[in-house]
Amino acid sequence: MAADELDVLVIGGGITGVGCALDAATRGLSVGLVEQRDIASGTSSRSSKLLHGGLRYLEQRDFGLVREALKERGLHAAVVAPHLVRTVSFLIPLTNRVWQRAYYGAGVMIYDLLAKLGGNTLPHHRHLSRRAALKLSPGLKRSSLIGAIVYHDAQIDDARHTLGVARTAKRHGAAIATSTRVNDLIIEDGVVVGATVVDIETGRRLEIRARRVINATGVWIDDIQDMAGPSGLRVQAAKGVHIVVPRKAIDSDSGLVLRTPSSVLFIIPWGKFWLLGTTDTAWELDRAHPAASSTDIDYLIEQANEALSRPLTRDDVVGVYAGLRPLIAGEADETARLSREHAVAQPVPGLISIAGGKYTTYRVMAADAVDMATESIDRPIGPSVTEHIQLLGSNDWDTWQHAAARLGAQYGVDADLVDRMLWRHGSEVAAVLALVEAQPDLAEVLPGGGYLAAEALYAVEVEGAIHLEDILARRMRISVETVDRGIAVSARVAEIVASALGWDSAKKVAEIQAWADRVEAEEAANDAADDRTADIARREAVDGRGLIDA
Ligand code: FAD
Repeated sequence: MAADELDVLVIGGGITGVGCALDAATRGLSVGLVEQRDIASGTSSRSSKLLHGGLRYLEQRDFGLVREALKERGLHAAVVAPHLVRTVSFLIPLTNRVWQRAYYGAGVMIYDLLAKLGGNTLPHHRHLSRRAALKLSPGLKRSSLIGAIVYHDAQIDDARHTLGVARTAKRHGAAIATSTRVNDLIIEDGVVVGATVVDIETGRRLEIRARRVINATGVWIDDIQDMAGPSGLRVQAAKGVHIVVPRKAIDSDSGLVLRTPSSVLFIIPWGKFWLLGTTDTAWELDRAHPAASSTDIDYLIEQANEALSRPLTRDDVVGVYAGLRPLIAGEADETARLSREHAVAQPVPGLISIAGGKYTTYRVMAADAVDMATESIDRPIGPSVTEHIQLLGSNDWDTWQHAAARLGAQYGVDADLVDRMLWRHGSEVAAVLALVEAQPDLAEVLPGGGYLAAEALYAVEVEGAIHLEDILARRMRISVETVDRGIAVSARVAEIVASALGWDSAKKVAEIQAWADRVEAEEAANDAADDRTADIARREAVDGRGLIDA
């Protein structure tokens, strides 16, 4: 990246940034992307993982936004990433026979209609009697409903999808560097013409020059803008916490949407688990490692227990994670183009900031940001083409999705496990399993059950992971899917990847210790009563890359 002037330098490797990199690369621009930690290490690995229109926007009568998001949902299921998108059913318990049935019924009807207009083919919603609802979700308290409505939406593993977009951008020519932090912007005659970056792993400093710089740093947007001057978009962080409980803790064949005093609680099927979320509170503490307190966790359990016949307890909780919504704060200045939930602005010539929005609409956000970035580039640049771009792993999905039994028999791996791998890797599963052919001990199932040893090696050889944390928290979800948060498996994973990453035994020990420290600090935070004490507890662990956040 430092060798020649780029057309576009993107700062931030969350879904917005990698979306911009893919959009720009596929329009024929030369692109570089720098991410200070790992791909999706910010909010983009910590969402509710729904690709959805958002029923609540219908309450605000924002039909355009819902329609746009539902179009994206359909596009991802059909073209962009069918191997990563799953259909989920959601049951909404009703407590009032007349107005709720009419109100929610109208809402989901419009939702389905807007989806259909966007070309979606998910099953239509259904009205259920109390008896039918309890048959589908026997774990609900009989007294918590008089009937229900069931509708359908889509879910996606956010971190794996963000990684897929990044790798696809790379295939189309984008250069991508993780562990690379922007320390300053290069400004000449009042125009941003690049950035000074530091390679966190080596301490090496470099100048990257670019005709346009896109600031896609989520809750860090203000930091980058302040390097150029005090104007532009302002972003406020709002914390959202999820807990993970085993499937057997809640007896239901459908996801649930429960009303809470201030919003809704989603109970979302997630493989062998349920995700329960989320909370919504202002956060002004460590943005890299937002901490979930015991108040957050207890709130989620209490809200779920309003409706569940077998109450959840802290003992059911396998995993906890917290993420920060990058909300646009106050009035955006007049250079901002507010497009419903997201905004694109050019606070200083050469620097484009993109913020707000939802995971689901990242592709539209990226197209808007690249449109603004290329407005004054002195050669013809075509419109966005990403709606036609299939992510790596999605080719021939119609046939790959039925390949589990065949591949399992061929490589001596349990077919159910291969099936789950297919939904993570798509057609790339062939490359993961090829590692087993070369090294048969990689057919081992890692302790905890959900992942193959070969996936750890693949994570570092192909998927850009360079620390244990990158593997345990994002390439795999061991950090929230095992009660010990990956402590038992960490040494084995370190063993598998050590030689590929050039780790000697001291480095191996340091990585395992860093993971143990992180787990200990997160557990202490989860026991703390409030945000401030949770934040202090979480800061006890040094960041995996040694970075310090404000
Ligand atoms: P991020 O993912 O945070 O990426 C910004 C990146 O910039 C980070 O990786 C950071 O390390 C990097 N960076 C910062 N400073 C620098 C620097 N100086 N140099 C280099 N890199 C830097 N949306 C949905 O559509 N569906 C949902 O179900 C949903 N659920 C959500 C639930 C929660 C709890 C939250 C918090 C959000 C949810 N969202 C959902 C919203 C969605 O997750 C976010 O809008 C989206 O992930 C934001 O992505 P981003 O790329 O803008 O930010």
